Amino acid sequence: MIKKGTKLYSIIKNKCPQCNQGDFFINSNPYKINGNLKIHDNCPKCELKYMIEPSFFYGAMYVSYGLTVAMAVAIFIICQLLSLDLVSTVISIIVVLILSLPNLVRISRLIYINMFVSYEKKFEN
Ligand SMILES: [Zn+2]
Repeated sequence: MIKKGTKLYSIIKNKCPQCNQGDFFINSNPYKINGNLKIHDNCPKCELKYMIEPSFFYGAMYVSYGLTVAMAVAIFIICQLLSLDLVSTVISIIVVLILSLPNLVRISRLIYINMFVSYEKKFEN
């Protein structure tokens, strides 16, 4: 459905941004509490070094912040459309954000590395 060779494919499918083949995170399940943020040192297929520089993924915090605010606003709007009161709205936002936190952090890191690394056609097939 999502075309291989796009950044969206890499972000959604947990794949290396350069070859779109090797896995980025070691565990494919974001809700496995122990070690859900462990990444491979290098791409298993194209040997791209994922940790481009020391503390590279600190920058993903800003991406995560943006995603979290966008989700909170979206949930707020949905709750207003459903005519929920303010307490229910706040509780809804907190519950949804807590439940989606593991996925948000992983997606933030994938978005962040995709800002710096582009797909290379030589890794097709
Ligand atoms: Zn790769």
